[in-house]
Amino acid sequence: MAVLDKLTSQEAIELENKYGAHNYHPLPVVLSRGEGVHVWDVEGKKYYDFLSAYSAVNQGHCHPKIVDAMTHQAKTLSLTSRAFHNDMLGKYEKYAAEYFGFDKILPMNTGAEAVETALKMCRKWGYEVKGIPENKAEIIVCENNFHGRTTTIISFSNDPVAKKNFGPYTKGFIKIEYDNLQALQEALENSNNIAGFLVEPIQGEAGVYVPSENYLAEAKKMCAEYNVLFIADEVQTGIARTGRLLATCGNCTCEDKNCSGTPEVKPDILILGKALSGGAYPVSAVLANDAIMNVIRPGNHGSTFGGNPIAAAVAMAALEVVREENLAENAYQLGIIFREELAAFAATNNLVKSVRGKGLLNAILINDTEDSSTAWDICMKLRDNGLLAKPTHGNIIRFAPPLVMTEAQLRECVAIIKKTISEFKK
Ligand SMILES: *Cc1c(COP(=O)(O)O)cnc(C)c1O
Repeated sequence: MAVLDKLTSQEAIELENKYGAHNYHPLPVVLSRGEGVHVWDVEGKKYYDFLSAYSAVNQGHCHPKIVDAMTHQAKTLSLTSRAFHNDMLGKYEKYAAEYFGFDKILPMNTGAEAVETALKMCRKWGYEVKGIPENKAEIIVCENNFHGRTTTIISFSNDPVAKKNFGPYTKGFIKIEYDNLQALQEALENSNNIAGFLVEPIQGEAGVYVPSENYLAEAKKMCAEYNVLFIADEVQTGIARTGRLLATCGNCTCEDKNCSGTPEVKPDILILGKALSGGAYPVSAVLANDAIMNVIRPGNHGSTFGGNPIAAAVAMAALEVVREENLAENAYQLGIIFREELAAFAATNNLVKSVRGKGLLNAILINDTEDSSTAWDICMKLRDNGLLAKPTHGNIIRFAPPLVMTEAQLRECVAIIKKTISEFKK
């Protein structure tokens, strides 16, 4: 079988099943092309993408500016490793550091690697700056978190599917309830060895849980009081997804194109991934100011591919697109319409309990038991009707289209969702 041979959907699925590890349970659709808010399957059927590769494709599929940056750099210089300098990395680092308002950036590839990097940096800061006794550092995390799949990260997950039989687990994490300031206060009071608090500004994988209005700002204040680093995992929520450049931007309107968040919710360590490359390439990063970043010295940490010239070129282009096309503002405006429309629909339809989210990171709660297949079955019907979405934990369907969507397209999608659910029969 040659690379260019055409497969049917059925053949492609059978090959994956036979030769690939079964570590995912994909919706049965085989995509072969993408452009903007649309993807096409191998039979040529067109769909609206309402997952955006878990918010990696915020800038839309195959954005020409990002593809140009990538192909140009791929033909020029792809990888040097960090054993040598390259002429793209410094340019990108300056651009990204200024873009998000931090002194420095540490480039990695995947989200999980960036989270690992942040955890290591936080612990090292705990020992060398805060003065925590060796091997005693603790990091506070939240219940129902999702931060990736490494052995350390799953050590503080409470999802049995992600965790069971992967032990022994990494120690040094304290789990508290999400969106509970009292619990945070108690954890901070309980120990002098706390180095950081790792939190998602909205819990995406858990089912798009939006915390109370003041949660992040108050949590940041508490952390500052106890000399504990506030670490925001914005791998999913960042890069305009929630109607702000960052979800930690709070209520800033993003009219200021140089916005890097209101100061009181500015994280000490910011973790980015996914849409940092517009979905074109694995690019992630950790940003911090010098007082924290400078604990990392030569040999302490690294990655062969982290900060490679293609990644640097792609990420710069992807960030430029976010500004040039006002994606934060667009996500903000379309998000309001989406939730208004679906809240009105939920009021008249007994299958949809409610809608929640921010910007274009939204979810509907299906009125059925957690273990029923209703959300999955609705996603199958949405697929038949030309819209791709995926259930998350429980009976929740996440809706996260690319941010380059127009209002007319969004309204068409809302109509597809309403019609599909109205006609849905179990
Ligand atoms: C996706 C995600 C990650 C992990 O990113 P990978 O690139 O899959 O390793 C980490 N944190 C959050 C919040 C995510 O949504």
